[in-house]
Amino acid sequence: MKVAGMIKQSLVDYPGKIAAVLFTRGCNFCCPFCHNGHLVVKPGKSGAQYLDWQEIMEWLEERKGFLDALVISGGEPCLNPELPKALRQIKELGYKTKLDTNGSRTGVLARLIEESLLDYVALDIKGVMEYKKYQEACGRRLSTEDFLNVKGSIYLLQNSHIELEFRTTVVPALHTAEDILAIARYLEGAARFSLQQFKPGHTLNPDYNNIKPYSREELQDMAQECRRYVREVKVLNT
Ligand code: SF4
Repeated sequence: MKVAGMIKQSLVDYPGKIAAVLFTRGCNFCCPFCHNGHLVVKPGKSGAQYLDWQEIMEWLEERKGFLDALVISGGEPCLNPELPKALRQIKELGYKTKLDTNGSRTGVLARLIEESLLDYVALDIKGVMEYKKYQEACGRRLSTEDFLNVKGSIYLLQNSHIELEFRTTVVPALHTAEDILAIARYLEGAARFSLQQFKPGHTLNPDYNNIKPYSREELQDMAQECRRYVREVKVLNT
C-alpha cells in the first residue's frame, strides 16, 4: 500500500494501546479546517513521496510485542484500493487495527468489517446531518452519494461489534453549541463521541487561521449537554 507518512509510536491514537500510525494520501473531502493538506492531494500527484511497504512490514515484524496496534489514517484511507490487502498483512502479524475515516465509502467499510480486518473505527462527523451544512464543513467537495454514505456508515458501525468512536472538530465558523447537540442527538445511543478542539494555523483554507477557537470551558459545556445522548463524551486537545 502507498504510505505517505508514519508515526512510529503513539499513545493517543488508539485508546489504551501503543500504536504506530500510517498515513495514506488522497481525500474526497476538502475540509477548510483540515491540518493534513499535504495528504489531501491526489495519490498520483507528481513528486509525491512514499515509504516502502515491504520495509514497513519488516519493521512491524520486529516490533511485535512492543507495539499493540496499527492505525491507518489519512487523507481518506478507504479510497486506497490496496487497503484490504494491507490490513490482511497487518492482521497476519497479530496487530490490532484501527481505521480513521470520513465515512464516505460505506461499501469498503462493510467489506473490511465482514472480513474481521478492523478492531476499532474512528469516524469523523463534519457537522449537522443536513446536506448543505455538511457540504460547507467538507469544503463543498461533497456529492449527495458521499453524504448518504456517511449516514450509511454511521448506521453500519452502530450495528457492528467493533469498537467505535465518533469525532467532530468543533469550529466556531461552522458549528454552534446547538449544532453539536444536534449531532449528539443524531448519534443517540453511541458509546463514544469526542469533541476535537479546532486549532488555527496550517489549515487547508487559510482564512480559517484567523478563527478564534472555542474556549476549553465552552467545549466542556457542550460535552456535558451531549451526555444526554451519548454515554462517553470527551474533549480532546485542549
Ligand atoms: S479533515 Fe477532511 S480534508 Fe482533511 S483528511 Fe480528513 S476528511 Fe480529508
